[in-house]
Amino acid sequence: MSSHERPPADNRRSTPVPEALDAFADAFGGEVLLPSDEEYDEARRIWNGMIDKRPAVIAYCSGTADVVAAVRFAREHDLPLAVRGGGHNVAGTAVCDDGLVVDLSAMDGVFVDPDARRVRAQGGATLGDVDRETQLFGLATPLGVVSDTGIAGLTLNGGLGHLRREYGLSLDSLTSVELVTADGSVLKASDDENPDLFWAVRGGGGNFGVVTSFEYELHAVGPAVFGLFVWFRGDDVTAALRAFRDYSAGASREASVLPFYATVPELDEFPEDAWGESAVAFLGCYDGSTEDAEAEFEALRTVADPLVDFSGVMAYTELQSMLDEDYPDGLRYYWKSSYVTDLTDEVLDLVVRYGEERPSPLSTVDIWHLGGAISDVAPDETAFWHRDAPFMVTFEANWEAPETDDANVAWARNGLAELREMDVAAGAYGNFPGFGEDPARTLFGDNYDRLVEIKTEYDPENVFRLNQNVVPKTESAR
Ligand code: FAD
Repeated sequence: MSSHERPPADNRRSTPVPEALDAFADAFGGEVLLPSDEEYDEARRIWNGMIDKRPAVIAYCSGTADVVAAVRFAREHDLPLAVRGGGHNVAGTAVCDDGLVVDLSAMDGVFVDPDARRVRAQGGATLGDVDRETQLFGLATPLGVVSDTGIAGLTLNGGLGHLRREYGLSLDSLTSVELVTADGSVLKASDDENPDLFWAVRGGGGNFGVVTSFEYELHAVGPAVFGLFVWFRGDDVTAALRAFRDYSAGASREASVLPFYATVPELDEFPEDAWGESAVAFLGCYDGSTEDAEAEFEALRTVADPLVDFSGVMAYTELQSMLDEDYPDGLRYYWKSSYVTDLTDEVLDLVVRYGEERPSPLSTVDIWHLGGAISDVAPDETAFWHRDAPFMVTFEANWEAPETDDANVAWARNGLAELREMDVAAGAYGNFPGFGEDPARTLFGDNYDRLVEIKTEYDPENVFRLNQNVVPKTESAR
C-alpha cells in the first residue's frame, strides 16, 4: 500500500526499521536524535515541566529540505508528527510519544528589509530573535510579551503583545509564509498565492503544514517606548481593577494594558514587608511621546499609593524581555483563558476571589485589554474568529511541586468554569489552551467549517493533528 492509500489511523505507531532510520539520518542536513542518544533526554524536554513525552525520532531541521524529508519520513512510517517552533505551548504539542518531532530550533534566521519594512523569520525563531534584528532599524512587528516564546505557535494562533491595540495580532502583520504541506510540497501562501491557505494559517494553528518562514510587515516602534509597570497592595486590588475598567473605556490605541493579580515577589526591588502578600500590577506599553504616555496612564498609576512603580521610558527590547525570568524552563504550568465582552463586577470579583485562593504564589489571574486594531479586522477575514471581545481573562497556574499538580490545574479549570457560566464569557484563545481540552469550534467559531474545507484539501489524512485539531472531512467520514 502506498502512503497515499494508507488510512490516517489514530494509532499510527509503527517503529521505523534501523536501516530506514540510517538512510534518513544520512541524507538529513541537520541532526537526527534517537532515544539511545546521550542528548535525547535534554532534546525531548520543552518549556512546560508537566510534559514528559518520548518521541521515537527528533529531527533537528537545518532548512526547508530537512522539513520536507522529515514530513515524508513520518508519513512513510506512520509516525505521529509533532512540530516544535519555540517549544513554549503550554499544552506540550511540540512533542509527542513514539512519533517524529520536526524540531525547528536551529532554523532561527531573521532577515530585515528596512526599506520595504518587512522582516522574514524562519519557523524556529523566537520573539527575542526577531525584536533584536528589527530594533536595529527602529522597527517592530507586534509579537508577545516574553522574548523566549516562539514566533511560530504565537503567530499561527493569534499573537497578543504590547502593540496589540495599535497594530493588532501578530498574524495581522503577516504578509506571507512558506510552508511544507502534508504531501511534502513547499508552498508560498499570501494574499496573491494560495490565498485560502493564507487565510487558514492566520489563526488556524499548526493544522495546515510546517511553516518554515514567516514574513511580517514592520512598523516604526522604539527604540524607546513607555513601559507601564506599577504594583498596588492587596487592599487596593478591587479599586485598582475598577479604575482599569473605567480607564479602558476611553483608552487610546497606542496603549495596551494588562492588569494581573499576583503575589509580591521576594526581590530587593519590592518592600520586604510586602513580600508574599497579594497585589495587583498593571503591565503595559505606550508607543508615543512620554508626555502623552504620562497623561494616558495617570489615572492607573495614582489609583492608590503604589507599592512600587517601575514605569518609565525604556528600550522596547527591555520591555519585551522584562518578564522572561518569571517563566523559567521546566517549571510546571497550566494556562487557560476565555474572552469576556464586559468587565462586570461579577467578573472582577471572580478575578479577586481566584487570585486570593491561588494554591501557588507564582500563579496569576490576568486581564488582557484587547480591542483597538484587533477589532478592525472582521471575524471571517482571517481564521482568527474572536475579534470583537474587548477583554480576555487568563488563569495562569505556575507552580513547582509535582505533588500539587492536581490542585493547581483544578484551580485554573474551576476559575475558568465559573467564568464560562457568566453571559459575558465566550470562546477561548488558542495560545493559552490548557491541555487542549476545548473543542476546536470554541476557538474558531463560525470559521470552523471553512477551515475544515481547507484542511480537507491540504491535509486529508490529518498528518498535522497534534494541535487544536481541525478534522478533515475525509477523516470524520471514516
Ligand atoms: P510550540 O510549542 O513550539 O508549538 C506549538 C504548536 O504550534 C505546535 O504544536 C504546532 O502545532 C504549532 N507550530 C509550532 N511551530 C510551527 C511551525 N513552524 N509550523 C507549523 N506549526 C507550528 N501568547 C501571546 O499571544 N502573547 C503573549 O504575550 C504570550 N506570552 C507567553 C509567555 C510565555 C512564557 C509562554 C510560555 C507563552 C506565551 N504565550 C503568549 C503563548 C504562546 O504564544 C504559545 O505558547 C505559542 O504556542 C508558543 O509558540 P511556540 O512556537 O513556542 O510553540
